[in-house]
Amino acid sequence: MIEFERVTKTYGARRAVADVSFRVERGAFCALVGSSGAGKSTLLRMVNRLVPMSEGAIRLDGEDVTRLEPVALRRRMGYVVQSIGLFPHWTVAQNIATVPRLLHWPEARIAARVRALLELMRLEPAMGGLYPHQLSGGQQQRVGVARALAADPEVLLMDEPFGALDPITREELRIEIARIHKATGKTILFVTHDIDAALQMADAIAILRGGALVQLGTPAELLEHPADDFVRDFVGGTTLGLKLLAQRRVAEHVRKEAAPPGAPISRDATLTEALSQMVLRGTDILPVRDASGRIAGSVALADMIAP
Ligand code: ADP
Repeated sequence: MIEFERVTKTYGARRAVADVSFRVERGAFCALVGSSGAGKSTLLRMVNRLVPMSEGAIRLDGEDVTRLEPVALRRRMGYVVQSIGLFPHWTVAQNIATVPRLLHWPEARIAARVRALLELMRLEPAMGGLYPHQLSGGQQQRVGVARALAADPEVLLMDEPFGALDPITREELRIEIARIHKATGKTILFVTHDIDAALQMADAIAILRGGALVQLGTPAELLEHPADDFVRDFVGGTTLGLKLLAQRRVAEHVRKEAAPPGAPISRDATLTEALSQMVLRGTDILPVRDASGRIAGSVALADMIAP
């Protein structure tokens, strides 16, 4: 668990981070979101002490990070940034093995860990022998994530990691990170200016503005109960209603009565997917199937949009 208590960072008279308090539960995926200059990176870098705090405290599982030795602290936290910083003259396998080597793991354990991480990141085993310049930008980022995970850190700190990639690769990697979060149970702190990425991936979102924490909540809480007009505009924009539909599932709106004909939609589908099917089929009601494929009822537009 990571706890921020009245954390402040000043540069001269300017407060880059101002009196920020919140906690991130163990295993949570927390996005730090805000416009450029909101203080996101500064806040993240105070967690692994790349930036010294001016006031307040950050605790990792109850331990004040300023009492921990910086190198030991950073080994407990993988760190991934946009400019990946892979070592160009080292192979992919050597890059991934950086921290295990520093920790003097036996060679066999390092080799097994590299193999497991290549597989986790969906990289071909043979890629371990290539050099960074022989990989695409997306593959390099995957190696960066694998390297950050190598010594099995408790926490993964990610600072706009996919910002420089093309939209399709970025989307692929977001899905990948969400999958890895589920598979590993790591606590993730993810900095982004892209609220839609945060709504898609995170289970907690901290909205920062001018260094201050404006609101902390789940995606649904932020969309349903924005703290003020700034959050409402920032989170929802002109499509707040559609974003709300994306947070809700068909399962919550199933009517038991007889279903109309046609291909059924899954109970696990989002209401956005249901709405999309309704538009395509020119109907306002769809049959719904359960996990075993049986018809479980129907979902109607009127129920989906009821307050
Ligand atoms: P974000 O990550 O949200 O874009 P940053 O945390 O990078 O924002 O920056 C927050 C504020 O702190 C900005 O106004 C930035 O100019 C200022 N800042 C960041 N680093 C420094 C520094 N080393 N010296 C002076 N000001 C800084």
